[in-house]
Amino acid sequence: MPTPCCAFRISDLRPCANTAREGSDVCHAHRAFYNKASWLNRFASLNSPLLLTGLVFGENTMLARIEHVVEYSLKEGKIVLTKKDVAALPSPTFDTWVRNRPPFVTLVDLYTVMVRTGKVDPRWNRNLLQLSLATYAKMYAWEMRDMLPNFETRIGPFLRYPGEKPHELVMVLLVIQRAFLQARHMRAAERRHIPDIMSRQLAEECFKTESVKRTALYSTEEWMRILQKKASAVHNYNVEPSVKAILTDVLSKHRTDAKKEIRLGMDPLKRDLIEATWHPSRFEAWCLDEDEKKENSAMFA
Ligand SMILES: [Zn+2]
Repeated sequence: MPTPCCAFRISDLRPCANTAREGSDVCHAHRAFYNKASWLNRFASLNSPLLLTGLVFGENTMLARIEHVVEYSLKEGKIVLTKKDVAALPSPTFDTWVRNRPPFVTLVDLYTVMVRTGKVDPRWNRNLLQLSLATYAKMYAWEMRDMLPNFETRIGPFLRYPGEKPHELVMVLLVIQRAFLQARHMRAAERRHIPDIMSRQLAEECFKTESVKRTALYSTEEWMRILQKKASAVHNYNVEPSVKAILTDVLSKHRTDAKKEIRLGMDPLKRDLIEATWHPSRFEAWCLDEDEKKENSAMFA
């Protein structure tokens, strides 16, 4: 039985209607479609007009079709990207990125789609990982509040990647967002309130994610320690005290939920985590805020 060609017509990126050559999964015209070098050149080159720019475009747009081809190629194993291939993807520096409009944003979209397939480890290109977080952080501003891109679509794939530390990614995201918000030219009155409102909203979104929810059991102090570490490393940025207040609120709310779920015995993974976290050797350092620690020592003094 003849098998259909599994390449896509370059003119409109619709599935090819030809029959595949014997012993192959593509037709004669598409014999080089899944050649890695030309595939990368076509879809992942900085100068390519075909780079993605959206992720949320309608199904019938050219961009959605490119996204589909990239996703299909990786998921079906037609293109297998190695760590080396991914590290070699065109990747502007953070500073260049901040100063430029597209096409750099499109690279981030491409990377998000690649990671979403589960075939590309986001850490293979640390720079694109950081730019992906930064793109979202930059969009997460007051002016965009009615049309914010979907958190799950843009950040979800990175948080779900096995081996990645979701809470550290969340911290990078928050750090970059604070830096962007502070750099904005806003009136003094706005500058006082808006960054806090937006950061709180972003933190809330992060903690709704399954993999991040669990880490609500860390104390505010532990979170602040990670935040400051990320802030100095990523952006040479000092975390202001208002962030601590936001984190304290968001954490205390989600900590109650996390504990409740564990008590209900819903998730063995979470049970393991809470056992490790509540181990006497870690409990004090991880789970108690400074005030609670003082209270604790006062109690047992
Ligand atoms: Zn074909």
